[in-house]
Amino acid sequence: MILRKTPSVAIFCAATLSLVVASSPSDAPGAHDQPGAAAASGATGSPTPAEAALADRAVMETAAAPALVRRVETVGKGDTLAAILDRAALSRVMAHDVAQALGQVYDLRRFRPGQRIEMTLRPDADGGSPTLERLVLKVDPRTDAVVSANPDGAGFTARSVHKELAREVTRAAGTIHESLYVAANRSGVPATGISDLIRVFSWDVDFQRDIRDGDDFEMVYDQLIDEDGRVVGTGAIRVAVMTLSGDRRVLYRHELADGRIDYFDEQGRGARKALMRTPINGARLSSGFGKRRHPILGYSKMHKGVDFAAPTGTPIFAAGDGVIEKRGRNGGYGNYIRLRHNGTYSTAYAHLSRFAKSVYVGKRVRQGDVIGYVGSTGRSTGPHLHYEILKNGRQVNPMRVRMPSGEKLTGTELARFEETRAVTDRLWAAIAADAQVARAD
Ligand SMILES: [Zn+2]
Repeated sequence: MILRKTPSVAIFCAATLSLVVASSPSDAPGAHDQPGAAAASGATGSPTPAEAALADRAVMETAAAPALVRRVETVGKGDTLAAILDRAALSRVMAHDVAQALGQVYDLRRFRPGQRIEMTLRPDADGGSPTLERLVLKVDPRTDAVVSANPDGAGFTARSVHKELAREVTRAAGTIHESLYVAANRSGVPATGISDLIRVFSWDVDFQRDIRDGDDFEMVYDQLIDEDGRVVGTGAIRVAVMTLSGDRRVLYRHELADGRIDYFDEQGRGARKALMRTPINGARLSSGFGKRRHPILGYSKMHKGVDFAAPTGTPIFAAGDGVIEKRGRNGGYGNYIRLRHNGTYSTAYAHLSRFAKSVYVGKRVRQGDVIGYVGSTGRSTGPHLHYEILKNGRQVNPMRVRMPSGEKLTGTELARFEETRAVTDRLWAAIAADAQVARAD
């Protein structure tokens, strides 16, 4: 065997791999030398001086007995650390010391089935209990609890090691039949990735009601890979596409100069959109939101919207992107439109003289599209637009409601975004090409 000094950790593994003692199914030979493990090993923290020293010792001593033995256990149902250390044949005194050290960095009551424990043991030359050199408890994909024998041989020291996970850019796409969840899941996106996708589009899409059979989604996102090459989570979505009833919307992730991260369409318009507080041009606010004496009914009544006085026929705009939910006569509201923007917000427009052509229930409209014209239908004393913003089905004051900025990037900020978009597009194209090749195979 060739003994090289650095990198010590890699040598340490190589030197002991042949001595692995099988003790659980996860410890099958070769379980630790998968290609993925090697690829991701760069993600592990560099060894501490103590580890390096230990590794060096291991390397030097493999030539002569006793060699170190690596033992891997998976915590079983009802398993305890004491039982695991007992199976490794540690003396009670040493097991107690190890448990006490580990308890400094990890609450042993949180011990649960499926967790992995790797131990490095030094067998006793005379057949007595082995000595524990090192124990690693995989707390979660990002954290190891590590117990190491003190270099002077007296007791143990524990510490928590935070590991950087490797990232792998991944693409998923599919056509929605039952639900977005089913479609995304079928194309390999874990639940966290699906909820991220829904969050990214939450200003554009009401996922409860807007999805139709045959709609498409596509996303390019990071998968988080642990040191064993397993996918353990999802990172950020870099670009996401929803195609709803043929209407394709693309949102890119972009970090602004001030460090905020948000999603923007191809033109650099923010995914979070503000609703227009005044969805009409050249109008005068004639009545505010709140309690007032009703001009026709004569008694005091809550005014649940705002009124804009304007000549009959003045165009009314969609206050935001959305879907027409109601269009028609609606009692005292007269000719009425309700527009649903997302799962939270709707807007309503009343007393219209007429509706814009091609505005029908289910129609998708964009912010600023003309949807109807000012009139005086219903319970109205003169031509005006009665406008409501509904949050979770309840009217709120359009002048007061706090809404996201709906920013449009400009200048250097837009230039920065265009760079992000170009980088993302190149990644996207490369992955999509890979997928084609994979399919061709
Ligand atoms: Zn009104």
